[in-house]
Amino acid sequence: MTHQKTHEDTLSKIVSLCKRRGFVFQGSEIYGGLAGVYDYGPLGVELRHNIKEYFWKSFIADRDDVYGMSAAILMPARVWEASGHTELFTDPVVECEICHEKIREDQSDEHAFKHKSESGSAGYKFTKAKKFNLLVGARLGSSEKTATDVYLRGEITQGVHVNFKNIVDSMHPKLPFGIGQIGKAFRNEIAPREFLFRQREFEQMELQYYVFPEKKEGEKWFEYWKNFSFEWYTALGIKKENLRLREHAKDERAHYAKNAWDIEYNTPFAGWKEAFGIHHRGDWDLQRHGEYSGADLVYTDSETGNKITPWDIECSGGVDRAVLFVLLEAYTEDTLGGETRVFLKLKPELAPIRAAVFPLLRNKPELVAKAREVYTMLKKESANWRTGGVMWDDNGNIGKRYRRQDEIGTPHCITIDFETLENDSVTVRDRDTGKQGRVKISELTKILKNIC
Ligand code: ATP
Repeated sequence: MTHQKTHEDTLSKIVSLCKRRGFVFQGSEIYGGLAGVYDYGPLGVELRHNIKEYFWKSFIADRDDVYGMSAAILMPARVWEASGHTELFTDPVVECEICHEKIREDQSDEHAFKHKSESGSAGYKFTKAKKFNLLVGARLGSSEKTATDVYLRGEITQGVHVNFKNIVDSMHPKLPFGIGQIGKAFRNEIAPREFLFRQREFEQMELQYYVFPEKKEGEKWFEYWKNFSFEWYTALGIKKENLRLREHAKDERAHYAKNAWDIEYNTPFAGWKEAFGIHHRGDWDLQRHGEYSGADLVYTDSETGNKITPWDIECSGGVDRAVLFVLLEAYTEDTLGGETRVFLKLKPELAPIRAAVFPLLRNKPELVAKAREVYTMLKKESANWRTGGVMWDDNGNIGKRYRRQDEIGTPHCITIDFETLENDSVTVRDRDTGKQGRVKISELTKILKNIC
């Protein structure tokens, strides 16, 4: 029980750090907050960007067989009828007859337990489960007569499949090839909870990889992308023992899946939870969109002239879940110089700020001027880095500035002091060990570049 409490604490500590340090805020907070919706602040948006950038580079930009794209969020209802979401994208919902709260059926035991521990009553009852569709709808058009029903996409996947023909006609790819994208998805989750874990508006990063529709090809590429995705997730700086691959049971698979595995993260608040899915979608999507739209979505093999409908191997990850898991993994408390401190042990490539520059004293113009010089030089240099920026800080004493940078995960703090004025060397402090060393200003860009 004590154990459980500590774990729950980690999540609440992260929620409060995120607010205090400008990572993530409750959506529309000053109006009482909107459940399941979050806004990213200045540092959170950088961390999220760095994760997305890493995905884009690994799954799309570095490869010759994958194209990137960005489809619209609004799509007509017909798309979702074709994809099966109108009919099948549902969760079973029950109503508690004691407090009338609507909950997902799989959470009813937990709910009953809550009542039991509050009132001691073992008696509880739920209504029969009803299907609840998770798609978020909207209407477009200025008059009632001409307005059409659209949905905010429930998954970003469909935006790729409906563009399959456009990509084939414009880029002339050869099978196997992939199309990747990153973007927002919306789900009317019955019980949004656990901070960024289950939201109603969230971001996904995905690859749809089209292969020849043959059993062996499908299996080969499924294995390939399963392992690739797992390696990718580990490289976010997550310990191997906190990640696992788990195969879906047959009755657990989504309506389109021939085979499905999840990468799961061992969360401190609820054990193993899905982080990333690898799905063998077969020809489900292209067949259905061909049928419902009337468009010809077959692929002509340039060598044999055969017309085929490729199979799709999908890699699908939640961006916000990755942000949360990276934060959970990085959150560290230790004792340094006799004081307890909190720091984010982020991989330098993911840290929102790669280095902070401080003048030792803010009321000594010669120190401030020299520190500005170093800051401007590094800021210019940071244009060549794929991720992470440079921050100026002259607020409070040096100890306080270190604590602040530790809490946002900045790997290096650079202090300009009186010795700098004499020999152009600065103090560089390492976040994880708290150790400090003197480095020549001319060496700084090399040191910071090398960490990425
Ligand atoms: P879950 O079983 O947790 O509801 P899912 O199986 O419905 O997830 P997918 O449809 O496979 O999820 O979506 C792919 C990825 O999108 C998931 O692995 C997850 O990282 C992310 N994701 C899904 N739903 C949410 C949500 N409500 N909030 C944040 N991320 C989500």
